[in-house]
Amino acid sequence: MKFLEALAQQFAGKPIDWDELEHGLIRADLGVALTTRIINKLQEREAWSLLGISDVIKVAREEISIDLPTETKPIQPISGKPNVVLLVGVNGTGKTTSTAKLAHYLGGTGSVPSGKTGTTRRSSLQRHTVLLAAADTFRAAAIEQLGIWAKRLGVEMISGEYGADPAALCYDAHESATKNKIDFLICDTAGRLHTKSNLMAELQKVKRSLAKKDPAAPHEILLVVDATTGGNALSQAREFHQALGLTGLIVTKLDGSGKGGIVVAIQDELKIPTRFIGTGEKIDDFAPFDTRKFVAEML
Ligand code: GDP
Repeated sequence: MKFLEALAQQFAGKPIDWDELEHGLIRADLGVALTTRIINKLQEREAWSLLGISDVIKVAREEISIDLPTETKPIQPISGKPNVVLLVGVNGTGKTTSTAKLAHYLGGTGSVPSGKTGTTRRSSLQRHTVLLAAADTFRAAAIEQLGIWAKRLGVEMISGEYGADPAALCYDAHESATKNKIDFLICDTAGRLHTKSNLMAELQKVKRSLAKKDPAAPHEILLVVDATTGGNALSQAREFHQALGLTGLIVTKLDGSGKGGIVVAIQDELKIPTRFIGTGEKIDDFAPFDTRKFVAEML
């Protein structure tokens, strides 16, 4: 259930209990700062003792809408060079699946191709050419999993051996994408190494290696977070943003979770916009983030 609806049910026919309301908004992952703002806004009203739950929902929606950008920046091809998109995030958030979904959205057909992996196709969706780099070399299954998607989508993929240097792999993939005039290079990366500091250092190295051929690359660094993990997603966003400078989020598992609040909390605290959302396990359960739709349908 959407969390504002759940809140409405909880308070139906009752006067507002401010502590309960505060807990309800925090439980919905809106974060302390935004929750406090919503409550202050409500309490500023003269006759707040007469407020009903519909007023609370109205004010919550208004405050949330102020926070979220009205327009989502689209990901577009760059003239004369590949647009390099790096996907980062901890394991299990849906990074590899989102890499495939983004490839499909930007250029893949989603149909099972008759040819082998290695043919670069223009497609029915955005009709751009895409190259994948399987740079999660720490998780053998990730290389395999992305390989299966690449084959299904008819998109070329560069991969290495298990344990190969992801920075070198991304460098080679970038070179290949440039040489072949590919519109988008999408790099899947590792979500776990032996220690966390190693992971951040490795991702920084990947970033530097991509910048060798084009100082502006990677043009996008998108953190994949699982909406159902609430506060964990927020702390992941803080950490990855500090280490890498994120340009956006892909928020997954928004299907039926009632957990959209995390999108708002991350935007509120870190000003990182959600660029895409994942709403299921299928290749087209994926869409650019749309504030109006999100507020109307997910909150
Ligand atoms: P990674 O370890 O971050 O690369 O995660 P995977 O891409 O392997 O995904 C982990 C699990 O989450 C898989 O079972 C995916 O099918 C599932 N998954 C990914 N995105 C979504 C989503 O938007 N909704 C749902 N329900 N499941 C998802």
